[in-house]
Amino acid sequence: MSEEQKQGRTVVVTGANRGIGRAIAERFVADGFRVAGIARSDDLPEGVFFAHADMTDTTSVDAAFTAIEEHQGPTEVLVANAGITKDTLLMRMTDEEFTDVVDVNLTGVFRCVRRATKGMIRKRTGRIIMISSVVGLYGSPGQVNYAATKSGLVGMARSITRELGARGITANVVAPGFIDTAMTAELPEATQEKYLASIPAGRFGATDEIADAVAFLADAGYVSGAVIPVDGGLGMGH
Ligand code: NDP
Repeated sequence: MSEEQKQGRTVVVTGANRGIGRAIAERFVADGFRVAGIARSDDLPEGVFFAHADMTDTTSVDAAFTAIEEHQGPTEVLVANAGITKDTLLMRMTDEEFTDVVDVNLTGVFRCVRRATKGMIRKRTGRIIMISSVVGLYGSPGQVNYAATKSGLVGMARSITRELGARGITANVVAPGFIDTAMTAELPEATQEKYLASIPAGRFGATDEIADAVAFLADAGYVSGAVIPVDGGLGMGH
C-alpha cells in the first residue's frame, strides 16, 4: 500500500500504553495512520488518541469505540493486544485465576471485535489482528489458563474469516515468542534462561519485531485466518 493510501486509515490498538501495544501504536503513527489507543491509563505515545476502557467491561469497551469513531471515524484496523497472565500450576489454579485471564484475553478480544466489526461490515473492509502467543499452540506448564485463551484466538480469527471474509474483512493472529517487555521481565531468571536456550534465534524478540508483522497484516488483503509466528523459531511446526 502506498504512503498516500495509508494516510487517514484508522487504527485502534488495545493496551497501547506499554509493551508490545505501545510499539504497535508508535509504528502506525510513524506510518501515517490515524491511531487510537484503548487503555486504562492515558500514558499513550504522542499522536495517539486516548479512549479509556477496561477489557472486562462491555459497556466501557463499547463507549471507547464510540468515542474513537466520533474522533477519527469507523475503525478499519483493530489490533487486539491487551492481555494478562496469572501463571500457576494446574492443581493450584483457582477458578478466578482461570476466568480472570479468559475475561481479558479471550472475552475482551471478543468484546472489541464485535464492536469494531459493525463499522467494518458497513464499509466492506476491515483488518482484525489478534496478539496471541507461541504458547497458544506450543503449550506451557503453569499457563493452562493463558495458553487456552491464546489458542482460543485462533478459533476466533478463523471463524471470523469464514463469517466475514466475503465482506472484505480479514482476521489474523500474531503469535509472539518471548519479547522483551514487563510481562517477560516478571519471569524468574532461571525460566528466562531455560527459554533462551530453546529459542533457535538465541535471543528474545523486540517489540518492534511484532509491530512489523502487525503492519504487514494491516496491509494484506488476501491473508486471513493465519497464525504468523514471530518467535525466533521457538514454536516452529506448531
Ligand atoms: P504488558 O504486560 O507489558 O502489557 C499488557 C497490556 O494489556 C497493558 O497495556 C495493560 O494495561 C493491558 N491490559 C491488561 N489488562 C487489561 C484490561 N483489563 N483492560 C484494558 N487493558 C488491559 O504485556 P506485553 O506488551 O508483553 O503483551 C502484549 C500482548 O502480547 C499480550 O496479549 C500478551 O499476552 C502478548 N504476548 C506477549 C509476549 C511477551 O513476550 N511479552 C509473548 C507472547 C504474547 P495496564 O497498563 O493498564 O495494565
